[in-house]
Amino acid sequence: MSDCLFCHIIAGDIPATIVYEDEFVLAFRDINPQAPVHHLIIPRNHIATINDLAPENAAVIGKMYLAAKHLAAEEGIAESGYRAVMNCGQAAGQTVFHIHLHLLGGRSLQWPPG
Ligand code: 5GP
Ligand code: ZN
Repeated sequence: MSDCLFCHIIAGDIPATIVYEDEFVLAFRDINPQAPVHHLIIPRNHIATINDLAPENAAVIGKMYLAAKHLAAEEGIAESGYRAVMNCGQAAGQTVFHIHLHLLGGRSLQWPPG
């Protein structure tokens, strides 16, 4: 999608600090981190929101969580704990309409989120 910020990051048109990539997903540091570890994990194919998921997208969602697991171990937060969440739509605070898994950790996280 030509007007999608995260598609531009995938294309390399907009810089990002890449922390993980494979054939299916890309992960980079959030520009406005909400925790000592805050990475965004995105599929290489454009999917706007969870509401737009199709059955053929099931595998890439699994790949996103496998990347989160890998990064949590690499960042040393696998045992202390972390959160891997996706916001969907305006009321949940989604601001970029290319699905992304937030990987948050390195501090105590409150529940429920605000
Ligand atoms: P959302 O609110 O849609 O769940 O999350 C969007 C996230 O993208 C926010 O945490 C925000 O800080 C991050 N973000 C927005 N623009 C950029 C950018 O240009 N680069 C990076 N690395 N993160 C961004
Ligand atoms: Zn996109």
